[in-house]
Amino acid sequence: MRDIALYHGDGRGWIEVITGVMFSGKSEELIRRVRRALIARRRVQVFKSSLDDRYAGLRTISSHDGSGVEAVPVRSGVEIAERVHPDTQVVAIDEVQFLDDGVIEVVSALADGGMRVLAAGIDMDFRGEPFGPMGHLLAIADTVDKLYAICVHCGSPATRNQRLLNGQPAPYEGPTIQVGGHEAYEARCRRCHEVPSAHRYQTSLLDLLQATPADPVVLTHESLQPRRLPEHV
Ligand code: ADP
Ligand code: ZN
Repeated sequence: MRDIALYHGDGRGWIEVITGVMFSGKSEELIRRVRRALIARRRVQVFKSSLDDRYAGLRTISSHDGSGVEAVPVRSGVEIAERVHPDTQVVAIDEVQFLDDGVIEVVSALADGGMRVLAAGIDMDFRGEPFGPMGHLLAIADTVDKLYAICVHCGSPATRNQRLLNGQPAPYEGPTIQVGGHEAYEARCRRCHEVPSAHRYQTSLLDLLQATPADPVVLTHESLQPRRLPEHV
């Protein structure tokens, strides 16, 4: 895994986003980077969304493989700003997709102020749409690492979160965040990801793709042949 932290030390700040589907190893990677920052004797503060209390509980970032570091649970981005000590050099945030859009301004301000900001979060919700502030964070990040899990159906790289309700694919219309619900999640690839919907727009777009277009410009290997440029160029 690329480690931009190797270049840390000149005091300039930046934002590193670690993203991907559930079970892709985001927490493992965040923990790894936090540990390496501690080995480098950086002053580190670790936060996580208070919505996530799975595995080791509210005050720990833990990975599915059991490793962990201590973390402070927060409910909003502003709460992070209120708790960051001016001498802190590295700020790590896990489950950032659960935080409000306020976190975008906070991580930008911390990085502008010279801190190294590590933010780990799921990029897409169970529908395959951008999750909370993640789309924006991915756009403003200085580095992005998108991790993949393994599709539990076919073994391909998994990029999607499959929500199951009573063992069946959950409908599109369900809430994005369902704390304490009876749903379960699986990592799946695009092909195996299922989101039943009462809306028909996906089907009609597919119909459009299957219709023969009037004037298709389709590039093939032959398009690579050198061509004479028009005289006036
Ligand atoms: P994330 O924070 O992205 O949810 P974690 O760091 O908590 O991921 O857990 C990653 C670990 O989960 C992997 O190292 C592996 O041991 C385990 N795991 C369980 N299911 C899967 C899966 N379908 N694909 C890949 N890893 C999985
Ligand atoms: Zn699959």
